[in-house]
Amino acid sequence: MDTTGAQRRALVVEDEPAIRELVRFHLDLGGYAVEEVADGLRALERIRATPFDVILLDVMLPGLDGISVCRALRLDTRNQRTPVLMMTARDGETDTVIGLESGADDYLTKPFGVRELMARVTAITRRHGRTADTSTTPIDVVSARDVTVDRQRRRARVRGSDIELTRQEFDLLDLFISRPGVVFSRAALLQQVWSDDAFVTERTVDAVVSRLRRKIERDPADPELLLTAWGVGYKFADGSD
Ligand code: CA
Repeated sequence: MDTTGAQRRALVVEDEPAIRELVRFHLDLGGYAVEEVADGLRALERIRATPFDVILLDVMLPGLDGISVCRALRLDTRNQRTPVLMMTARDGETDTVIGLESGADDYLTKPFGVRELMARVTAITRRHGRTADTSTTPIDVVSARDVTVDRQRRRARVRGSDIELTRQEFDLLDLFISRPGVVFSRAALLQQVWSDDAFVTERTVDAVVSRLRRKIERDPADPELLLTAWGVGYKFADGSD
C-alpha cells in the first residue's frame, strides 16, 4: 500500500450513523486510519488540528453544513490541498455544482455503492498525489472514452486521430476529461477556463462547447461524450449516462 510505511489518514464527516459506519468500514479495509465525526463544527476542529490524506464530507450536517466546512478547509493550512469527496443526499445537481465550487474534488450521490465509493476515493487521492508531485512526475496524459489529452504537448486524440484545438477548446476538454461525470455550471467553466478574461459571457461557453463537439463527437447533434446537464451546464460522459 503505502511505501513510506505511514498509514494514510481519512476523515469521515457524516451524521447518519449507518452511512458513517459503512464508509468507515470500507476505508478501513482500504488501508486507511479512519476518524469519524458527526457534525460540521467538530469536523472543522479536526481539520484545523490534523492533516488528512482524504476527507469524505456529507453536505447536510448539524452545526455547520458540508459546503461551509469545505470552503473553510480550503483556507486552512493543514488540509488546504487535501482531496475532498462530497456526499450529497439528493441528486440535486445544483448541490453538486455548489459543492465543487466550494473546493470539493468530486461528489457521490446517496445512496451509493461501496465499489463506486472506493473508486472515487482512489481517483481523487491518485490525482492529488500526482498534482502534489508535479516537479518529478507531471500528469501528462489523461484518457477517457476514446479521448486522450496530452498536456505537455497540448495535443488531443479522438478515436485514434489527432484533432486541432484552440487554446480554449483544449483547456475546456482538459477540464472535462479530468473529471468525468462531474457537472460544471457555465459560471464554473468561465471561472476555470477564462479566469483572466473579463469580456466573455456564458454564451461564450456554449459556443466553445459546440465547436468542441464538432471536433470530438461522432454526431455533434447527438453528443455521446460532452453531455448537456439541462438547466445546469455540461459534463463529460462517465459511462453511467
Ligand atoms: Ca446528513
